[in-house]
Amino acid sequence: DIAARHLHARHRLLQMLREVQASRSYVPEEAIQFFAHVLNLPIARVRGCVEFYSFLHTTPRGQFDVYFSDSVTDRMAGSQIVAKRLADRLGVTLGQPRADGRVTVSMTSCTGHCEQAPAGLVNGRVFTRMTEARIEKMASLIEHGVPASEWPAEWFHVDDGIRERGITLDTVIPPGEAIRAALARGLPATLDEVERSGLQGRGGAGFPVGRKWRGAFDTKGTHYITCNADEGEPGTFKDRVLLAKYADELFEGMTIAGLLVGAKKGYVYMRGEYEYMMEGLQTVLAERRAAGLLGENVCESGLDFDLRIHLGAGAYVCGEQSALLESLEGKRGIPRVRPPSAVKIGLFGQSTINNNVESFVQAAQIAWKGADWFSAHGEAKSRGTKLLSIAGDCQRPGIYELPLGTTVREVLARCGGENAKAVQVGGPAGTCVGRAEFDRRVSYADLSTGGSIMVFNDLRDMVDVARQFAHFFAHESCGFCTPCRVGTQMLKHYADKIADGQGTQRDLEQVSSIGEFVKAYSHCGLGETAPNTLLDTIKRFPEEYTSRLLAEADFVPEFDLDASVTESRALTGRHDQLDQIHSD
Ligand code: SF4
Repeated sequence: DIAARHLHARHRLLQMLREVQASRSYVPEEAIQFFAHVLNLPIARVRGCVEFYSFLHTTPRGQFDVYFSDSVTDRMAGSQIVAKRLADRLGVTLGQPRADGRVTVSMTSCTGHCEQAPAGLVNGRVFTRMTEARIEKMASLIEHGVPASEWPAEWFHVDDGIRERGITLDTVIPPGEAIRAALARGLPATLDEVERSGLQGRGGAGFPVGRKWRGAFDTKGTHYITCNADEGEPGTFKDRVLLAKYADELFEGMTIAGLLVGAKKGYVYMRGEYEYMMEGLQTVLAERRAAGLLGENVCESGLDFDLRIHLGAGAYVCGEQSALLESLEGKRGIPRVRPPSAVKIGLFGQSTINNNVESFVQAAQIAWKGADWFSAHGEAKSRGTKLLSIAGDCQRPGIYELPLGTTVREVLARCGGENAKAVQVGGPAGTCVGRAEFDRRVSYADLSTGGSIMVFNDLRDMVDVARQFAHFFAHESCGFCTPCRVGTQMLKHYADKIADGQGTQRDLEQVSSIGEFVKAYSHCGLGETAPNTLLDTIKRFPEEYTSRLLAEADFVPEFDLDASVTESRALTGRHDQLDQIHSD
């Protein structure tokens, strides 16, 4: 049934597996064999896919599958406390289904609702602002088997979180008007306009959008348009608002790009945590098709273009462009070797324009209102405004649209974070700055960010913050290349050792040298940025590290040699007394 509904299309494998997971609470072996057979794929390919994505499981989950967001800022709001409270009340071990199959309680990476933390998911539905009182009630509802759809509606309420609007959030395009403006101006002239605006990719890397579109425009053959709506960077939640409230603008931007390069199809790759928005987005797509804004002969242009939405399944690395394309093809999200760029060889081996949600929204607005309107904001090398998702130790967390070039100090003043001692700009992969650098600017020329701004006050332990990020990257590394796969595990190990007060000066030096190695030799952006916070905090908050180091004389071995060779001793039957190491 599922395979037929997806037209036996291999690239929809992940979508099929998600549906099995949702209906069965896991993907059983017979489903793996079935999809391998009907899609004519190797079994290892299907099983590899199931094992790669953290929202897919090969063993049953509980009838109630509860995840708590484990972002640093969710933890600061008490996510671990409420998760443990629920697990205790229900008598479950975190991550393990209860023996009677009733419930599983787990932690997961950021769910994208940090300003309404502690947040999480129950059977795919997002809950926000969880409290210990609500946990008591939740435990009772689970014990009585009350479906999540009948739980109090206010638990699932998601605010838009908008605190400050700028030109983007103030510009609502009547459906079809940006496309018509682009067609009236001429599609090549609209490309000129996007180039002239200076719009740079809003995912954080800042590659000029117009140059990317020009590259695809100049490339012959079939084209695709893809939108990165995966925003998995902990602390980033601004695309959530654009998807919920500016879907028409997003689809206009993708459609204009599609008509420009002659693409017939586009895909929005949306993170699995945002599944609850799917129905609303499908409604907008249906309305646009009915109005002639998608499908055949878009806006009577003689050109065809349509869109589909695919859901991810809990893999941060799929925010990396080439990993996203792999995932859209129904595979594990392993980043590709680059070059060639996606503009040359992208989705299904064809030229692809991939931008994030904010980039497409702003491109549509530029097509409608012109380059000058947009480039009048921001600074010389970073034009326009940027949506920031601000969370942590500030009085007014939420979404702020500010001109690029705004200083960190100004950002803090607006969100009520004047007491900050550190600000993480750009999420765990970004830059951590201390008070001495609060006059630096949020812009592509200085502190670049896809949107995440995390605020930490004097009470926060920056070693612990860096440790949490080290755990995050070790968990999210896709394992493809050795520097990242092994390096992130080593960094996690050293971060734990130092944070637990067992590290020495030598361990600190090891972190720096391993960190530089991982940055230099990793295959993709995840590994290249994974050590950033450890390295930044060692540099900017050295006293927080050195104050907890052991003297060299108190050296603690990095691992227990005896414990490590126990298995081989058992296998070989050797128990030589002289090779034993005794700490006493
Ligand atoms: Fe995978 Fe990390 Fe290598 Fe990227 S750097 S390919 S995430 S192992």
